[in-house]
Amino acid sequence: MSYFDSLQKAVPLFHEHLGQKLRAKNQLDTLQVNVTKKCNLACKHCHLACSPKRDEDMTLETAKQCLKVFRTFDFKILDITGGAPELSQVFTYLIEEASPYAQKIMIRSNLTVYNKEEYKKIPEFLKKHGVTIIASLPFYEAARTDRVRGIGVFEDSIRVLQHLNDLGYGVDPGLELNLVYNPSGALLPTSQDDLEAIYRVKLKEEYGIVFNKLFSITNCPIGRFGEWLDRSGNMERYLERLYDAFNEVTVPELMCRSMLSVNHDGSLYDCDFNLALGIKIKGLHQSIFDVTKEDIANRQIMTANHCYSCTAGAGSS
Ligand code: SF4
Ligand code: SF4
Repeated sequence: MSYFDSLQKAVPLFHEHLGQKLRAKNQLDTLQVNVTKKCNLACKHCHLACSPKRDEDMTLETAKQCLKVFRTFDFKILDITGGAPELSQVFTYLIEEASPYAQKIMIRSNLTVYNKEEYKKIPEFLKKHGVTIIASLPFYEAARTDRVRGIGVFEDSIRVLQHLNDLGYGVDPGLELNLVYNPSGALLPTSQDDLEAIYRVKLKEEYGIVFNKLFSITNCPIGRFGEWLDRSGNMERYLERLYDAFNEVTVPELMCRSMLSVNHDGSLYDCDFNLALGIKIKGLHQSIFDVTKEDIANRQIMTANHCYSCTAGAGSS
């Protein structure tokens, strides 16, 4: 039995519990582009199982088509993710091309990549284009961060955060620097507001670092984390926790309702969790090269029991 089977059997099916079909909004805001699975890290919780051994990368042709769809379908936010998106051959191209017309460009960064010689100038490039940085920092102390991400990652991340502050990130109004917290193990995150307050004090007092917001993310029980839950006999307990914490108030704002996620090969998904599971959008047109606006507006979202991680507590996606 695969970990996905365990996931589906652990608690009642998500769509039955919801009692309705989950649907996208008529006008979507965000085009999320997953440019690569390459990453300089190989974190334990990575739902896409990215690592230095992966080599999938978006072609220029696919990147151009993403931008064409972005403009013609009236998307507002370009969300560039990976892997470590900076390692993709189309990373700077997408930002340079989209910055004159995108309302917002955001990237997901593991920070540590900027310590490598060939990527040291990327922060200045991001500043020039006013790109929002969403940076993962699983904890405000070295031991817990390094346990999830690898030895020395915390120290490397701190050095980069200090450099980003020096550039004006987290300080100037147009240069947003947001952090992401993940719990370690089969636990749900504590309150985002409480965590943000602690991160703010600890990072400022010990390292002089400031940031805009902290997002507290519930780990999705898929990918490396899902395999670990299954192997260690924790899948059922974790799913029960998510199920018990189901909060219907989160449903209207689930990210899949206002976004479309594109894989490096142009295939389309409701979110990057579905992308990780290989569950494409419903319908005949499942590629950035043939999709129409009608295909994605008000479409039925493909759900499964991993969706409970987005509806637990205050919501997370
Ligand atoms: S979680 Fe992020 S930084 Fe870690 S391996 Fe995955 S893509 Fe890389
Ligand atoms: S995992 Fe979350 S964002 Fe993705 S389809 Fe399910 S509810 Fe929506």
